[in-house]
Amino acid sequence: MRDENLEPLLGLQEIDGRIDRLAREMAEIPRERRIHEKEIEEQKVTFEKEKEKAAEVSRDKEKCVGDKESMQETLASFKSKLLELKDNDAYRTMLMQIENAEKRLGEFDIRIIELMYEEELIEEVQEAARKTFERNKARAVKRQQILDDQFNELQEKMKELETERERVSGEISPRLLDRYQRVRTAGKGLVVVGLINGACGGCHTKLPPQTVVEISQGKTFPCPICGRFIIWTEGSSFSD
Ligand SMILES: [Zn+2]
Repeated sequence: MRDENLEPLLGLQEIDGRIDRLAREMAEIPRERRIHEKEIEEQKVTFEKEKEKAAEVSRDKEKCVGDKESMQETLASFKSKLLELKDNDAYRTMLMQIENAEKRLGEFDIRIIELMYEEELIEEVQEAARKTFERNKARAVKRQQILDDQFNELQEKMKELETERERVSGEISPRLLDRYQRVRTAGKGLVVVGLINGACGGCHTKLPPQTVVEISQGKTFPCPICGRFIIWTEGSSFSD
């Protein structure tokens, strides 16, 4: 191969390296975004659980208040019946029932106070959970906004690089460009490599001395094994 100008190809290689790095950076952003989304979701669940607990205690209290009220009605009816009872045994039995009902009422009062206290505690916990949730949510939303901005910025850069790539590609012969694409698609990394110790800088295949000399004089050779373009670079050297 005679001295085809490899400068545009080196430029293309450099642009492709930047495109690859940029693509990796861009791929990171949705991943990070999902982490924040998950965090928000988890905190929301914690907050909802606290809310559910509070609702449960409120329901218990309502029920207790209702039970107390019906017990008060029962007590009132016992007391009015008591006045009508003439029989001693029936009277004594009714007195015992009244005593029991009064005892139950006292128990309801204690339980209601306990539940009110519990309600208060839960409210505090719930309030703390709500604050944490809202604070973290605001932070996560802000972080996501930053990520979105970053993504848009990277996308702009990518567009610029793609335009630049097109421009540089136009300066390269289709044959050379095709060869470059094939090596690149094969995932072999750099397409243009230096001559190192008289060998291909990509796959380390030794080259004939005559080829090495010609490369050192500025010629370019495609490696017979890996297809990369071998050129003389600053780090190049003849066979030891
Ligand atoms: Zn090679």
